[in-house]
Amino acid sequence: MLGTEKQNFDILICGAGPGGAALASICADRGISTALIERQSGFSNEFRGEGIMPSGYEALKSIGFDLDRMKLPMQKNLRGKVYNKTEPLISFEFPFRRQGGLRWVSQPALLEHMIKDSLTKNNFTFFRGCRALDVLRENNRVSGLKVSQKGEEFDVKAKTVIGFDGRNSMLRRKLRFKVLDFKQIIDVVWFKVPYPHEFLDRGTALVNILNKGFMVCPACYNDELQIGWIIAKGSYGEIKKVGEDAWISEIQRQCPQGLADHLERNRNKISNKFVLSVQLDRCTTWSSDGVLLLGDAAHTMNPVGAQGVNIALRDAIVAANHLVPLLSGNPTHTSLDKAFEDIEMERLREVKPIQDFQKKPTTLLKKQNPLTLFLIRNLSCITRLEFIQRKILKLADMMAYGVTKVELKV
Ligand SMILES: Cc1cc2nc3c(=O)[nH]c(=O)nc-3n(C[C@H](O)[C@H](O)[C@H](O)COP(=O)(O)OP(=O)(O)OC[C@H]3O[C@@H](n4cnc5c(N)ncnc54)[C@H](O)[C@@H]3O)c2cc1C
Repeated sequence: MLGTEKQNFDILICGAGPGGAALASICADRGISTALIERQSGFSNEFRGEGIMPSGYEALKSIGFDLDRMKLPMQKNLRGKVYNKTEPLISFEFPFRRQGGLRWVSQPALLEHMIKDSLTKNNFTFFRGCRALDVLRENNRVSGLKVSQKGEEFDVKAKTVIGFDGRNSMLRRKLRFKVLDFKQIIDVVWFKVPYPHEFLDRGTALVNILNKGFMVCPACYNDELQIGWIIAKGSYGEIKKVGEDAWISEIQRQCPQGLADHLERNRNKISNKFVLSVQLDRCTTWSSDGVLLLGDAAHTMNPVGAQGVNIALRDAIVAANHLVPLLSGNPTHTSLDKAFEDIEMERLREVKPIQDFQKKPTTLLKKQNPLTLFLIRNLSCITRLEFIQRKILKLADMMAYGVTKVELKV
């Protein structure tokens, strides 16, 4: 949609990641006039997490997107194997495998599907390839966004504006939200290789502890293995200097023989390389001047436990529960502000404990001292201790199902 005319919507959502697309889908379906803007023209231009836990699966299902019935590129991870460099340490089944385990789902395909579905609803407008540049104000309150699409600038107005615009949120910046930055010591080099069937059973995720750092490798859709090589923050510059061939060889020297051989055979099939600068932070308040931030814009998650997408989806459900009844009537600024506060309070009960867990320093990145080495070598015995098993199960529960009960009620 082009032109300089002002358009008035009930809700304007900035960012069509999983959170924004989910909230837009619910609102449009419930008869709320909904605008969703996305700066990218194609979803594959934006790399994001693809791990869907049972909590995210249930959130999507409640909106009408049952991943197990949709024909999207997806791979379930049902079990894992841990290696200490070349030595096998433990094999385990995910405690939540009966709930589908960790589903690795193509985000571009999922988001395209969600948008296509929303477009079947009359009261949904999608601004594709449209960047929000700034906020519009009326009576000291944000009344919409100034946007740019195909070189043309125009205004989009709405009763309420939601910032689901990710970790580099324009709205967070322009409205000067205060941010608690939980300094991170890791970055991740992501890449994909064909799935090593000769070495790993289908649907197995691999963790490999290296001399310094480690690799987390979930089974990925399209018969690939997604390798996440965890490195010290800021060290990619040095790694890049030595060249891809040299760092792949170094990884090969420190991984199980089966994977090393597989990497050797598939060097020319390494794809989708991406360096993620890991971030973990949270705005001290999530709303200001009539704008509510949600998802990574309000609380950027790091990749630990594959939580980011799931948390964003659950933010969308809680926001819809509060906003749909209000927007179906004639909301006042006071009632919207109160709803924003309620949404933040409800979501903080989950986001805070998960971020507290994600904050824990990654000791494996530091030089391994004798105690760490002892713990690694004896991981198999240690994980058989009953109290350790209870702790692991509790943690797996939190990662798989979330902390609070989140249900779509509208
Ligand atoms: C590179 C990368 C790798 C990640 N890896 C993992 C992982 O392995 N596991 C995990 O759990 N999480 C991971 N995450 C985090 C996870 O992807 C996010 O937590 C999750 O996608 C958050 O969803 P969201 O809807 O809040 O925001 P996002 O998915 O970030 O979506 C925000 C959207 O807003 C759009 N946008 C931004 N600014 C504007 C603007 N001005 N105008 C219009 N549109 C705009 C963006 O194009 C984007 O599509 C990763 C994130 C990144 C960036």
